Amino acid sequence: MHMIQRGALLAAVLAIAACAGAGRKPESARPIDDLSDIPRSPPPGALPDPIHDNLNAVLWSQTSAENRALANQAFNQAARTLAVAKADPTFNALPPSEQGTPPADAPLAIITDIDETVLDSSAFNADIIQNPISRNLPPAEAHKQFDQRWNDWVAQREAIALPGAAAFLKQAEAAGVRIFYITNRKDPEKAETCSNLVQAGLPLDDCATQVLTRNDAEGRPKEKGTRRKMVAAGHRVVLVLGDNLGDFADGIYSSLEARAQIVDAQSSWWGERWIILPNPMYGSWEEVLGHAPNDAASPTYGAEQERRRLQKGRALRGVDWWANPPKMEVKSK
Ligand SMILES: [Mg+2]
Repeated sequence: MHMIQRGALLAAVLAIAACAGAGRKPESARPIDDLSDIPRSPPPGALPDPIHDNLNAVLWSQTSAENRALANQAFNQAARTLAVAKADPTFNALPPSEQGTPPADAPLAIITDIDETVLDSSAFNADIIQNPISRNLPPAEAHKQFDQRWNDWVAQREAIALPGAAAFLKQAEAAGVRIFYITNRKDPEKAETCSNLVQAGLPLDDCATQVLTRNDAEGRPKEKGTRRKMVAAGHRVVLVLGDNLGDFADGIYSSLEARAQIVDAQSSWWGERWIILPNPMYGSWEEVLGHAPNDAASPTYGAEQERRRLQKGRALRGVDWWANPPKMEVKSK
């Protein structure tokens, strides 16, 4: 099993960046968002890697004791920070631009994301590996199918609580702290989401007010700052939990450098006011690596995926992508 995984990983790395050789340098010489040499339509069969490129990430999330330990670590730390926050009336987990001016006696609140923060939704990603979207579909149709698959999965309410999440949030609620779930699940998914939260043992009294879903048309856009401010209008927010940089700050979709600066600007807050959980399966980090717009020039979803993988390949550190670009090989049968 271990050797098979290693082999799969090696094949994936080789497929993305078949580029060992002289002249290595630590960083790409050109910006990763220069897409001029990415083929618009790779030939059918290019990079014929049968292994889904999310396999290792999903396996790690689902099976590693390390991930389980990290979740416990996160919620243990959250409990410690909550004790500090309650004792200090000036303690606030939102930056001044978002915290507003809550009254001195404002009730305390925790803001948490849902997926991969308190609910483990990795089974959806596993299903996409097991039953992939057809690579032969037009990209628009493939994305539509993906969204439908997600909606169907949400309706099944099969997400389970992450280790430590329910115990911590119940403890916080019992201590009088209001829990707000800010998620980019959308309004039509809200009822099933609330049902899943309750089934998983997470505290939720009022779905309407405690779960803030995404609705672009109604002022609840993808970036969550607007919704954090809604909570802050009536509460002192003492803790923010998430798995994605966007769970903590806005302006995260621009570049790797800007994202690093956002993290560093609040460096002392991590583990103190902001608690982050690991998610190697998906997230804004991935969007920044492969942020070419869905490309109408790609005839199929497979070709689009291929281009995105090539884009990601150039972000690898320690390989000279530009001197040795990946080969577009067609495997003979
Ligand atoms: Mg999440």
